[in-house]
Amino acid sequence: MSIINGVTRLIPGTLGDINSLVSESHNNGLLEYPQYTRPAKFRGMEVPGILLSGNHKEINDWREREMIKRTSDRRNDLILSKDFKNAPVSKRIKGDKNDSMRFRIGNGYDIHQLVKGRDLIIGGVKLSHPDNIGLDGHSDADVLSHAIMDALLGALSLGDIGKYFPPTDEKWKNADSLVLLSKVVELVKNQGWEITNIDSVIVAERPKFKPHIELMKNNISKITEIDKDLIGIKATTNEKLGPEGREEGISCHAVALLEQK
Ligand SMILES: [Zn+2]
Repeated sequence: MSIINGVTRLIPGTLGDINSLVSESHNNGLLEYPQYTRPAKFRGMEVPGILLSGNHKEINDWREREMIKRTSDRRNDLILSKDFKNAPVSKRIKGDKNDSMRFRIGNGYDIHQLVKGRDLIIGGVKLSHPDNIGLDGHSDADVLSHAIMDALLGALSLGDIGKYFPPTDEKWKNADSLVLLSKVVELVKNQGWEITNIDSVIVAERPKFKPHIELMKNNISKITEIDKDLIGIKATTNEKLGPEGREEGISCHAVALLEQK
């Protein structure tokens, strides 16, 4: 049986190709008979260690995982199709929920200098600083929007905002960063991903952020088209330490989780 299985796989156009010998040809029915298991090496190919383990449960689990992997490698359309997503869970290929590659995480960071004669715009909200200073930059220097954009781009390895909105381009001078964010969100969607959630922290000594957080969430929620509850915006002081503590600038960190549609 296993010989026939092996031979048919070696004939092109039959049950599989030579590579499939490694993962597919180990006949399930023969697992009960360890004397039929293959040697550690077969035609120069390493036989996966799990197949030599004699642990039938683990071998079965492994075969199932390999099957899912093969399906997603060869017929990813089956897993991504709407029919599949709408199919009852019992009819789905197992592993759909556990397939970690359907999720990607991104990290973003930004800092801008605090100077006189500039507006202080964060999360699309115009704030007023007690010293009448604002953030310097080519665009409106909205650190929160910029950090979120970098987190989204980073999740998909698409580079950073400098690549899409270079500070040398006059087009983006004093640009509203929410507009830039909407372009990044569009890019993420066009790549077939949707935002699961966002979290962020603004690092600034002053002003007080608490009264403005809801408004910032509203703005980001509108642009990203995700629920307000899926957007975390926090603010912390830097305990007077470092550039943020000396009020030389304001920085922001953000993370974003994306799920493949
Ligand atoms: Zn920036």
